[in-house]
Amino acid sequence: MTPILPGSTIGVLGSGQLGRMLAIAARRMGYRVHTLSPDRDSPTGQIADREVVAAYDDLDAVREFAAGVDVVTFEFENVSSQAAEAAESLVPVRPSGSVLRTTQNRLREKRFLSEGGFPCPRFAEVRSEEELARAAAEVGLPGVLKTAGFGYDGKGQRIVRSLGELKAAWAELGACPAILEQFVEFECELSVVAARGTDGSFAHYGAVWNTHRNHILDVTVSPAPLPEPVRREAAELARAILEALDVVGVLCVEMFLAPRGRLLVNELAPRPHNSGHFTFDACVTSQFEQQLRAVCGLPLGSTEQTRPAAMANLLGDLWSRGEPDWESALRFPEVKLHLYGKAEARPGRKMGHLTALAETGAKARETVLSARDALIR
Ligand code: AMP
Repeated sequence: MTPILPGSTIGVLGSGQLGRMLAIAARRMGYRVHTLSPDRDSPTGQIADREVVAAYDDLDAVREFAAGVDVVTFEFENVSSQAAEAAESLVPVRPSGSVLRTTQNRLREKRFLSEGGFPCPRFAEVRSEEELARAAAEVGLPGVLKTAGFGYDGKGQRIVRSLGELKAAWAELGACPAILEQFVEFECELSVVAARGTDGSFAHYGAVWNTHRNHILDVTVSPAPLPEPVRREAAELARAILEALDVVGVLCVEMFLAPRGRLLVNELAPRPHNSGHFTFDACVTSQFEQQLRAVCGLPLGSTEQTRPAAMANLLGDLWSRGEPDWESALRFPEVKLHLYGKAEARPGRKMGHLTALAETGAKARETVLSARDALIR
């Protein structure tokens, strides 16, 4: 396969922070970047050469966009499969539309995982109200009801403890196709960001430890403070999943560490992931450069981490008393500030992140949390 070389144009479907950081990596290596999304002056658009403002289901706009680039990738997976197919008729789309189709729907994703023999929480499909009782009996309660389509950061899901709560949650979530999942009393949450090239080469960033607040990622520590066999198994799971899906690009596998050291796959994201942001400052090759290399058919870069690191998200809530105190956070010399160029700070909106480097993950975590606290006036 002929590689797509510097000077070529990368087309990004989606225009958020993931595309922005990909665009920064691509620009650094001499590529041009076009982005398509419904938003203007977007985080990606501010860095890209060209920002196309169009709906993802405007197939004419997607075709015209694809005709102007050398490869299409995405930073947002809820793009319709028709849009991916429209682009695929003109240029390579990496990862492919079929990866997107599997991972953008929890039902298809869970089926792929269970049919492939990958460990995941017990689950049952729910397509109608009549199926709720059967699903509850099969899975057991408490459980988590999740809509099949278009969910991320805990959107479209409810914890349910009784059949009554399950019925209410199903109605509240719009009575649409869903899955009921066993509630996992996990010891911790972890993820592995990994990449696969057009030649099947594989690279991963190791297991990282994630903590969430209100279902949104809050802090990542890398490497995860977990026993080596667990870390090894997590990376092997990631390798097998990328191979089974035939991914070209970057994919993140989110997992739970359940009691007795059992790993369960929670979710797949076919793109760089929030839990891999630390790679920008802490690794020889960031997850964004890796995505660029993979989708361009170039050799993957080293994922070596130069120092332990921790990343803390900056949500819009931090703006509730005005602009955060940037200067105070920047007094920590080993903390890096990333802001995504979003004009409006809404509660829960990801506005940026901080990464701290230190001698140990625990120290990096302590520093990044102190730096984030220092932002509050
Ligand atoms: P998701 O959008 O599926 O990644 O879920 C967001 C967060 O909700 C996860 O990171 C967990 O903290 C929590 N969660 C999701 N599914 C489960 C489950 N089956 N058991 C326990 N917690 C869950």
